[in-house]
Amino acid sequence: MIASYAVRLFCLSLAAFLVIHTAAGIAVALAAPRAIQAALRMRARSAARVLFALRLLPAVLSAVVVAGFCIPSYLWLEPEVGAEEIGRLCVSAALAAAAMWCWALANGAAALARSARFTRACERSGAPVLMLAGIFRPRLVLSPAVTGALTAEQLDAVLRHEYAHRQSHDNFRRLVLATTPRLPGFRDLERAWARMSEWAADDESAAGDPVRSLSLASALVRVARLGRPASSATLAVSFCAEPGDLADRVERLLHPRTYAPSRGRGHRRVLMLAGFAAVALLTQSSALEAAHRLLEQLAH
Ligand SMILES: [Zn+2]
Repeated sequence: MIASYAVRLFCLSLAAFLVIHTAAGIAVALAAPRAIQAALRMRARSAARVLFALRLLPAVLSAVVVAGFCIPSYLWLEPEVGAEEIGRLCVSAALAAAAMWCWALANGAAALARSARFTRACERSGAPVLMLAGIFRPRLVLSPAVTGALTAEQLDAVLRHEYAHRQSHDNFRRLVLATTPRLPGFRDLERAWARMSEWAADDESAAGDPVRSLSLASALVRVARLGRPASSATLAVSFCAEPGDLADRVERLLHPRTYAPSRGRGHRRVLMLAGFAAVALLTQSSALEAAHRLLEQLAH
């Protein structure tokens, strides 16, 4: 296929994204079971952050390499000679990457619409519901059936739990996960992240206070007994635990673990070092030349 300078750049960027995303995605999917096991031994909030970062790693890494190396190397080193041949394999990879992004964005839009419908239905029906709904300005949806079933201490613990979800932007994170390309194996990471974010909200609600832990555990059981409206996966965070997770959450609250003191902002230092390394690499002309050689191979 003969393509102009700009179309070749567009195709190459998409094709490079697909190649890097697939390679990184396979590595992440293979590492996921061990990462999930390791997360179970960490503080819930740290575990949730690690799992979320791991799930997004293939997409973020691919975007950084394409934006930081592929596009600059092409603009700097590719002569503007007008139309030029581009291989079928490259075009096919670019179409596959475009389809993957369209699918992910459509999935996110559908989840948003489903979530809004579910929240409206819950508000109208008066069904026993307790959840944080909304992406950018989350609000609490709390039915009288739930408030009537809880004591003041339980209600306080529940509200602190939902506030923790709000502070960690869990609904927005759900939307990000829904709109990011997904490979087989990512579902387990997403489920583990959702579980850890529930545990983290429980921990932040209890704040190490045994009385609050007990109140939250008893509130979980009471709300679970009320039942909940059937829903397909939405972007709202419901207080009512998944049936398989209820026993674990109650057990954690009744027997909280102690952890070694946090070593501070280690992960931020690692991120800053990675950023400096990327900038240092980017300023090396040899890195851009190597990226350009790989693009040439991908294009033909
Ligand atoms: Zn929750």
